[in-house]
Amino acid sequence: MAWNIVIAGGGFGGLEAARKLEKLLPHNSAQVTLVSDQNFLLYTPLLPGAAAGTLEPRHAVVPLREQLNGTRLRLGSVTGADPERKVVFVTTGDGREEELPYDQLIVSVGSVSRTLPIPGLAEHAVGMKTLPEAIALRNRLLQSLEVAEGIDDPQERAEWLTFVFVGAGYAGLEGLAELQDFATDVLDSYPRCQSQGVRFILVEAQDRVMPEIPTSLADFAIRELTARGIEIRTGTTIDAMTESTATLAGGETVGTRTVVWTAGVKPSPVVKRMGLPLHERTGRILVDRTLQVQDVDGVWAIGDAAHVPDPRNLERPTPPTAQHAIRQGRKVGENVVRTLSGRKPELFTYKTLGVFVDLGRGKAVASTLGLRWRGAPAWFLARTYHLASMPGTKRKVRLVADWTVGLFFGRDGSELGRLGHPGRLDTPDQIALEREAVRHGASPSALPPIEDASEPPAPNAKDEDALTAPRVNEPAGGGD
Ligand SMILES: Cc1cc2nc3c(=O)[nH]c(=O)nc-3n(C[C@H](O)[C@H](O)[C@H](O)COP(=O)(O)OP(=O)(O)OC[C@H]3O[C@@H](n4cnc5c(N)ncnc54)[C@H](O)[C@@H]3O)c2cc1C
Repeated sequence: MAWNIVIAGGGFGGLEAARKLEKLLPHNSAQVTLVSDQNFLLYTPLLPGAAAGTLEPRHAVVPLREQLNGTRLRLGSVTGADPERKVVFVTTGDGREEELPYDQLIVSVGSVSRTLPIPGLAEHAVGMKTLPEAIALRNRLLQSLEVAEGIDDPQERAEWLTFVFVGAGYAGLEGLAELQDFATDVLDSYPRCQSQGVRFILVEAQDRVMPEIPTSLADFAIRELTARGIEIRTGTTIDAMTESTATLAGGETVGTRTVVWTAGVKPSPVVKRMGLPLHERTGRILVDRTLQVQDVDGVWAIGDAAHVPDPRNLERPTPPTAQHAIRQGRKVGENVVRTLSGRKPELFTYKTLGVFVDLGRGKAVASTLGLRWRGAPAWFLARTYHLASMPGTKRKVRLVADWTVGLFFGRDGSELGRLGHPGRLDTPDQIALEREAVRHGASPSALPPIEDASEPPAPNAKDEDALTAPRVNEPAGGGD
């Protein structure tokens, strides 16, 4: 192969760059390697839906291997780079340190939640940026309802039924709207909680929500959410939090067990270890209008990690949105190919085509090509847009199936917080689980030797479970 092209990060920008390179590079002219710390792209606009149970969490991601055709996927974490030697440092899944040489490097490592030095924030708040966070939030909501249902004191119960979201961008507004919708859906199963009601509060430091959409649409969103009983506090900050309280600016203390932090993003921390120039305020990698890193040979940066001059106003960077990352991915792919073939790279130009904000309950607000939509038509438009943008036919079909099932059968209220986190094989917890499995007909072979469940229980056994355990070959009564 003539050229080595490395892409760091397989999100919206990185995947799009890889696909563009696959399309434009002459056959066998280059080896493209995509390094990503997860083997899927997270389709973030569907994250609030995954948190609120309108779709299977797995259906909000796109496996990278299904999308790549010729690009080598290297699963591992980029830990830094040396632009002088033209190498990227990678730690692989099994802990090995590797150096990947490159001729051209595209950095698209995205962003992480931006936190502030607020007392209690790091310890008590939950994010809404990753799939584990979205799932944790769903479980937290269900756990809170379960706990609240068992509490006699209404004041104490209120803490568990109050949810505070901080930050009114995409993640905050959509996350809050979807979660509140989910809570009111499942509330019928919790009589005490239902009679007391749930409380959702949105706190935003600026004096308006969603600066990305026109004011009239933001006002519509506020009216819609306020009508559902959601409290919107604009021009308000959060000053401190504990396990059971959130203190707002001005001193008001709200009793709550869940604070969701969605107040902005900052570039992925690894950008500081790549030997590249960073913007002093945003911390994003400084690139010129062709997406090339300033004064560094063969390095490009795109998406949330890059400070790309916004074509509409060169003084500020393009907003951290998937729409921009995707277009920058395409352009960087083109520009790398142009550079390798001795042509001049082109300027990045892009005007946002539209924005959609899903408000749950079949409602949304949208602004597309100068047209404004609200309510059910906007919601339909948003779902159609996401369906069209979701890469891969299989993913699209799964999404439609989830949404259709949700429309007709509602949402599932089971709390599966332990999923994917089994205890150690020899912990008492696990033994109890195994014994439970045997009672329901599973093979006893995996049981620890402390008890032989394949034998019928002794009539004088003291253990209550042993007394009720069926023989292994007997059908397990009551199991499903
Ligand atoms: C809840 C939510 C809703 C959103 N809704 C919208 C929306 O409706 N419309 C919209 O346009 N935008 C939306 N956004 C913003 C959008 O998700 C981001 O702007 C977009 O993901 C940026 O793309 P990217 O390629 O720069 O980064 P990402 O898509 O985040 O990809 C970065 C990739 O790099 C990987 N990575 C990071 N560090 C390393 C490392 N050290 N080594 C290897 N791999 C690494 C990450 O795991 C990830 O796969 C939303 C964001 C959130 C959180």
